[in-house]
Amino acid sequence: MRDLLQRQTPYRNPKWLAAVRSIECCVLCGAYGTEAAHRDEGKGMGQKTADCASAAICSTCHHEAGNGKNLSREERRAMMDKAIVLTLIELVNLGKVGVLK
Ligand SMILES: [Zn+2]
Repeated sequence: MRDLLQRQTPYRNPKWLAAVRSIECCVLCGAYGTEAAHRDEGKGMGQKTADCASAAICSTCHHEAGNGKNLSREERRAMMDKAIVLTLIELVNLGKVGVLK
C-alpha cells in the first residue's frame, strides 16, 4: 500500500495561478488587489500545496493566514481552507474553471 504521507510533486499550473490572480478582490475581506496564496504544508521545507488549492486573498489576509499572531495554527488553516473554497467557487462563476468530461 502506498504511503499516503509520501507526497507526490504537487499539481503545478501557471494558468491556474493567473486565473486566481485575475480575481480582483480578496475572497475573505473584499479588499481590492489579490495574490495567489497556497496552503502551507510541512513548514520549513518550503512545501506548498497544489496550485489548484490556492486562494485569491489580499496581502493583509495572506499575512494573517500565514503567520498572523492573532490566530492559532488551526484558525489560520481554517482561514486558508475557507479562502480556497471561496476562490474555487469564484473561478467557476467566472467561467474559468469547469468540468472537462
Ligand atoms: Zn483580505
